[in-house]
Amino acid sequence: MINLSKVKNPMPEQNPEIRKRNFLEVSEGYTEEMAVNEAMRCLNCRTRPCVSGCPVMVNIPEFIGKIATGEYEEAYKVINTTSSLPAICGRVCPQENQCEGKCVRGIKDEPVAIGRLERFAADWHAKNSDSTIQLEKNGNRHRVAVVGAGPAGLACAGDLINKGYDVTVYESLHKLGGVLVYGIPEFRLPKAIVAREVAALEEKGVKFVTNAIIGRSITVDELIEEEKFEAVFVGTGAGLPSFMNIPGENLLGVCAANEYLTRINLMKAYLPEYDTPIIKAKKIAVVGGGNVAMDSARCAMRMGAEEVYIIYRRSEEEMPARAEEVHHAKEEGIEFRMLTNPVKIVGDEEGRVTGIECVKMAQGEVDASGRRSPVEIPDSNFIIEADCVIMAIGTKLNRLILDTTKNLKENKRGGIAVDEKAATNRPEIFAGGDAVTGAATVIKAMGAGKVAAAGIDEYLTKQ
Ligand SMILES: Cc1cc2nc3c(=O)[nH]c(=O)nc-3n(C[C@H](O)[C@H](O)[C@H](O)COP(=O)(O)OP(=O)(O)OC[C@H]3O[C@@H](n4cnc5c(N)ncnc54)[C@H](O)[C@@H]3O)c2cc1C
Ligand code: SF4
Repeated sequence: MINLSKVKNPMPEQNPEIRKRNFLEVSEGYTEEMAVNEAMRCLNCRTRPCVSGCPVMVNIPEFIGKIATGEYEEAYKVINTTSSLPAICGRVCPQENQCEGKCVRGIKDEPVAIGRLERFAADWHAKNSDSTIQLEKNGNRHRVAVVGAGPAGLACAGDLINKGYDVTVYESLHKLGGVLVYGIPEFRLPKAIVAREVAALEEKGVKFVTNAIIGRSITVDELIEEEKFEAVFVGTGAGLPSFMNIPGENLLGVCAANEYLTRINLMKAYLPEYDTPIIKAKKIAVVGGGNVAMDSARCAMRMGAEEVYIIYRRSEEEMPARAEEVHHAKEEGIEFRMLTNPVKIVGDEEGRVTGIECVKMAQGEVDASGRRSPVEIPDSNFIIEADCVIMAIGTKLNRLILDTTKNLKENKRGGIAVDEKAATNRPEIFAGGDAVTGAATVIKAMGAGKVAAAGIDEYLTKQ
């Protein structure tokens, strides 16, 4: 029976007034009753447009059908055949631009809440099932090294271990998960979920080496020539901070979003028992309109700021952040200053930030990104008072692997150049995720890791 409700079943959430001062997860997940009710909104369309919107082609109608009939473990298994990190993707994927953006129910009403259902199936599995996926028997024991333990590296390692490879992941940080642990805050993605996915890989036999900066501790070439790895996957992300290059960026109180979030998430600055130094300010201006800006602003509020501003040079419709994060940020009292562009950061005689000088912007012609370009309105300068400015305007690729690996070609974006099988110009080296595309999404990185695993399997099988 189809549920004709025009709107998604709402997901229980912490009250905004309470949650804006704590780091507990904002959304509490569907109950079984809510999940079944939502699953019954799916029309099981024959053309399956939602599947074409998913970068890893999860069989969405099939898993939703399993939830509708109460077969939750089966639903999880359907998702897990193509997605290795469903509890994570159900929480952080920009579903409105992917599967839900294509959902037929979304033409007239709200789309089916595919992300919430994916999260439900994954959480149900974690709580109720002890089944582990069977590994292929007679492992081939070819040795593969994976560089970087973000979603790209973890997905690649997961597929390779399932195929019987001997996999070692090298990670420069002391914790595994990449942006999932150092960038995305606890209140959006509890770290226990990432740890659970990592533990599952460890249980299957993946070996992890932390605090190993490939290119410094040992190079990719040395992994191949001296450590005798037969193939290497590079999934090192794009974590280098960008600044606007405007006057005042060297003042005390200006920082990069990545550093601010790393101190809070990886180094646990929000917990009193950790002694992590962190800027604590009353009025914080965050520059940018993506997920990184939303996470920084919402963390700043939770760290005790009284006023937090998002400053973005385009309009709200053009913000790249997930719709849910924008909605949650507003509920938590973050103020949005749209069509506003910083031109200078101002400070006092002691070199501390006191404000950010901005100009008003108007919407011009559509630009190469398909969005209306922001055009400065002359003489519209004004100052927003702030004692801290966080720059969240995007990240760049780190060149360490390109610069320390012999003859590895780069692409036009400054990332590692690969073909459709994630193979680089060096036959034994593969790459994927943000290290190739620049900053993108978790599911795209995961998809790239899976493509690379298939490419490595094909390459080593031919060998
Ligand atoms: C704050 C923030 C919020 C985000 N929110 C979302 C969201 O809500 N939804 C979404 O889909 N996407 C989001 N993204 C983007 C998403 O997290 C990334 O696109 C994704 O993590 C990329 O995965 P990756 O594996 O390519 O790289 P990463 O996650 O960056 O992982 C790369 C790993 O490689 C390690 N590494 C780097 N260099 C070396 C080296 N030389 N040797 C060894 N290890 C190395 C790094 O320490 C890191 O652990 C967000 C990003 C940020 C920063
Ligand atoms: S498009 Fe929407 S309604 Fe149709 S099968 Fe996919 S989730 Fe169900």
